[in-house]
Amino acid sequence: MAQIEQPVFGFSRPHTCKAGAGSDKYRCRGTDCQQRTEKEPASFRPAARTDGSERTTRSGRMRLLVSNRPAATSKALAHYAAVDYSAAIGMNHFKHCTIVPGTIDSHCHLTVAADRGVPVAEVVSNCFESGMAAMLDIAIQADDLPQRRRMVGDDRRILFSAGVHPAQAADTTVEAAAASIRNAAGDPAIVAIGETGLDWYRGREHAAAQHALFEAQITLANELDLPLIVHNRHATEDIYTVLRQSPVHRGGIMHCYSAGPEWVASFVDLGFAISFAGNLTFPRSDALRAAAALVPPDSLLVETDAPFLAPVPARGRPNHPGYLGHTLCALAELRREPLEELAHRTRENFLTLFPRARSRLTTREAAE
Ligand SMILES: [Zn+2]
Repeated sequence: MAQIEQPVFGFSRPHTCKAGAGSDKYRCRGTDCQQRTEKEPASFRPAARTDGSERTTRSGRMRLLVSNRPAATSKALAHYAAVDYSAAIGMNHFKHCTIVPGTIDSHCHLTVAADRGVPVAEVVSNCFESGMAAMLDIAIQADDLPQRRRMVGDDRRILFSAGVHPAQAADTTVEAAAASIRNAAGDPAIVAIGETGLDWYRGREHAAAQHALFEAQITLANELDLPLIVHNRHATEDIYTVLRQSPVHRGGIMHCYSAGPEWVASFVDLGFAISFAGNLTFPRSDALRAAAALVPPDSLLVETDAPFLAPVPARGRPNHPGYLGHTLCALAELRREPLEELAHRTRENFLTLFPRARSRLTTREAAE
């Protein structure tokens, strides 16, 4: 049981995290969210704008939100398209939010979340008001940094990476990708390279191009002295081979870890932290939980991978950093560690891995 003392999304009443109760062992049900949602003040509701149109979804008829942004990143994420978000449009994005003060979301895609209807500005400001320490917004495309920067303003608690996702391999050249990453890395808010890696989920048609992009970003991470964010989907062995042959001097993150418990030590030995996403809370994720129990304390991180993989009880909704607490609760439960300690540890692990992030956050605090 962990007592959360700080306001959670504006609710000052402390509440008890009952993660681990009953047979739903890994479900964090501890945030009183039903009760809190009923009392939710108007100011915490997303500023939903509607054109009055409706559509029928699995959840019935809903108003459509009008996005004022082009769905620029949607095409880039075609390989995630199997997920149907239509039912989620128009829902209350603040239900089930759980912020454990001091936490850092080590991996989110805020512009993609906005494309999926998440009111990102409100979510981000409520997360920080509730005590979240920082979030790392991850690149998908080579030249998406200005758009990402524009959307979230220049709060120093939002950190950025520069890189090209393996799903982009067919649409870019290594030269173009490298040039734009080098260019972006001049921005002091850039703390990491990626996300990069290998993804065999939809086959190996672009395997050579994915390999070339991955290796180019390893070279860049070493050249720019930055850690690397690694995406792995059904490609554990190949990724391990590449990283062993081409070590990343600053290490990095195996993001949204999925490789199974038997691989934990191998990636930790290569200098990589292991980051867990919302799928840690899914009923069938026993192998993932077994892996999470094995990760050495100083190699552990948490993330949302927003807008993907929202944790139980928000599963199926577009994910955002406000749901991070559920993954942290699940981790605390399965590792039998106090929630606050784990929040502190994952934050320190993040800041040790990303010294640039630590100095940005420290200067921000000093300026306040
Ligand atoms: Zn990602």
